[in-house]
Amino acid sequence: MLRVAVVGSGPSGCYTAQSLVQQAPEVFVDVLDRLPCPYGLVRYGVAPDHEKIKSLQGTLRTVLEHERVRFLGGVRVGGTGGLPVDRLRELYHAVVYCVGASTDRHLGIPGEDLPGSWSATEFVSWYSAHPDSPAETFVREVRSAVVIGVGNVAVDVTRMLARGVAELSPTDMPQQALAALAASRVTEVRMVGRRGPSQARFTTKELRELGGLPDTAVTVDPAELALDPDFADPSGLPAPQRRNVEVLRGWAERPPGDAARRIRLSFFRRPVELLSDGGRVGGVRFERTVPDGQGGVRGTGRFEDVAAQLVLRSVGYRGVPLEGLPFDAASGTVPNTQGRVVRDRFTSPGEYVAGWIKRGPTGVIGTNRPCAKETVTSLLADAPALAREEPLPDPLVGLRAAGVEPVEWAGWRAIERAEAELGARLGRSVVKLADWDSLLTAARTAVS
Ligand code: NAP
Repeated sequence: MLRVAVVGSGPSGCYTAQSLVQQAPEVFVDVLDRLPCPYGLVRYGVAPDHEKIKSLQGTLRTVLEHERVRFLGGVRVGGTGGLPVDRLRELYHAVVYCVGASTDRHLGIPGEDLPGSWSATEFVSWYSAHPDSPAETFVREVRSAVVIGVGNVAVDVTRMLARGVAELSPTDMPQQALAALAASRVTEVRMVGRRGPSQARFTTKELRELGGLPDTAVTVDPAELALDPDFADPSGLPAPQRRNVEVLRGWAERPPGDAARRIRLSFFRRPVELLSDGGRVGGVRFERTVPDGQGGVRGTGRFEDVAAQLVLRSVGYRGVPLEGLPFDAASGTVPNTQGRVVRDRFTSPGEYVAGWIKRGPTGVIGTNRPCAKETVTSLLADAPALAREEPLPDPLVGLRAAGVEPVEWAGWRAIERAEAELGARLGRSVVKLADWDSLLTAARTAVS
């Protein structure tokens, strides 16, 4: 019998647990999460209006309800006040870290920290009801916003800024964020890439969705498209980029028409400074760029200021080190071979990684399935070496002895009930609880 802890209950954690119980009949899995709620980025990253992707929670739920899987929320591993990694190792035969990439990359330019400049992650956390998100309104007094970066997160935040209350109200987004976005007077959102349109990272399905937003015009400057050498003849591009090019060309060729809001896609501009207006962000200075012939760009020395009272920096996530685990600062990942953690050039039996902390913040949710499977194959191959002479006690007893009182599945179900009740009271469907107090109070009703 093997007891495994999976740290993190997002897609990579859940797929790891699933793979473990599917591949081995003698494995018991505890899925730990520092939050009292499961599902990681599916709950706290996927945009609320992406109901189809959100419904994946149903699949992850069946994993966490498996008879040999147990969800233990409210368990912080590592860091101040967290359970030390060494202590966790004593409680389980093996630990798989599926902690994702919880922070954002920085631009490293002047003005980045001005009030009104946020990472997209902070904005996403806010509208997703993450209990650590700042108590902000983001859009108050904002007429024009700049989103830096052209990946799928940039598309998400751009779309959320342009959505009307009628479309957001049926989602599970928290009431405060809904009220703030309902009162928003943002009329222009400009999404800016430092390279060309054929090098943008968004996927065509997500890009196309921008064109279908009610009362919103999407514009692209044909001259910017023409700068991209792959634009005139996209036949050499991989299919996903070629499809992006076709969508952008369509927008560039049609007249924008009348609409209350405008989304403007700009390319070949790299941010060099965030400009202050009375101590808050007032705009972004971009340097115009041109292709360097090798997939990159070079600066032209020509600058352009774009006014914005809100700047969302959407330039990718980044993994953070977990105390007690090795970390490669350059890639923001834990060094590993096929999921086995590598310490001082040797694999460390009993310690594994899966998901973004293993391979970096790329790929869609489904990418985590084969990634988790590879890690589980490594773990199960090591199983004979992981056996201990003495049987392990129930780790829940060990966790309690270490001063940790986990939120179990019944606690999470109580949170779900509280969110349904809140929704009913507000005349909406489910409405997420957005602060620690409400979450933990709701979880406690499961035992009282
Ligand atoms: P991403 O796909 O890596 O895109 C990051 C963007 O930031 C790129 O356009 C990049 O440009 C730009 N960038 C990086 N450093 C920059 C700098 N210093 N100055 C200006 N621009 C800079 O990251 P992401 O959008 O955060 O997405 C992360 C992952 O989650 C992706 O795999 C994404 O597909 C996935 N995701 C999927 C969905 C969905 O399927 N609906 C939704 C959200 C996220 P360069 O290319 O020039 O580096």
